[in-house]
Amino acid sequence: MRGTYTHRRMQGQQVNMLVGECPHQCPWCFTEVYCAQRKTRMKYTGPLRFWDGTWVVPSIKKNPHYRRIVRMQSCVDMFADGVDREYILDILDWCRKQPQNVYKFRTRNPARIFEFEEMMPKQCMIISELESNRDYGLTKAPPPEDRYKAMLALTRSFVTAVDLKPLLPFDHDVLVEWIRSMDVQWCYFTALHKWVTWRPPMGEPELSEIAQLIFGVAMYTDVYIGPTFKYLLLRKAGIDE
Ligand code: SF4
Repeated sequence: MRGTYTHRRMQGQQVNMLVGECPHQCPWCFTEVYCAQRKTRMKYTGPLRFWDGTWVVPSIKKNPHYRRIVRMQSCVDMFADGVDREYILDILDWCRKQPQNVYKFRTRNPARIFEFEEMMPKQCMIISELESNRDYGLTKAPPPEDRYKAMLALTRSFVTAVDLKPLLPFDHDVLVEWIRSMDVQWCYFTALHKWVTWRPPMGEPELSEIAQLIFGVAMYTDVYIGPTFKYLLLRKAGIDE
C-alpha cells in the first residue's frame, strides 16, 4: 500500500482562459455558484470564447518564470467534444511557452487528448473525472466506461490521475479494478461547494461503501482526500466539525 492521507502539496495556480457554458452541462457543476455572483456571472454562461478580462492571474504576470503547478481550465472542460480545435491549440500553445510549469488537465473526455498528444506540454498530468463506473446519463460527457478505456491508453504516455467526483453509487469491485488497471499516480476524492447541497437523484453511496473504496484503491495508488470531501464524510458519519 502506498498510503492514504490528506495533503496540500499538489495544489497550485488555476488558469481559465476559455469561458462560456461547458458543453458537458453536468447537473453538479460548481460554475453555477459563480453564475450566481455578480462579478463572475457573465463568465460561465453563453457561447464558448476566450475571456477578454484578466485570466492570467496577477502572480503569473508578475513572475512568469517562476515554476508552478498550473491547473488549466478547471471551469470549462477544454477537451469536451463541443470545444473548437483552435481554442485547444491556443491554450496548449500558451502552456508550451512556459515549459517550467507542471500543468494539470482535468477532463471528462480524455479520449480527445489523443488528437493533441503531440502538442501537450512536456510536464503535465491528465486527470480524468469519474462519478461512478455506472452510466447514469446525467451529463453530456462520454459514459464512464469510455473515459476508463481512454485512460488505459493515456497512461502509457502521460502521468495520470483520476478524480472520483461527485461520487455516485458504484460497483466496488469494478471501480477498484478500473483504478488498478489504469495505473494512475493519484486517486483524488474531492468535492466542491455545490456538492455539499446537490443531491443526486439516485442517492449517495453509504459511508461504509466509500470507506471500503478508499482502502480498496489505496492498495494500488496514492489517495488524496480533499477538505470538502472530508467534510461530507464527517457529515455522513453524523459528526459536525
Ligand atoms: S465537465 Fe466539469 S466544468 Fe464541465 S459541466 Fe461538468 S463539472 Fe462543469
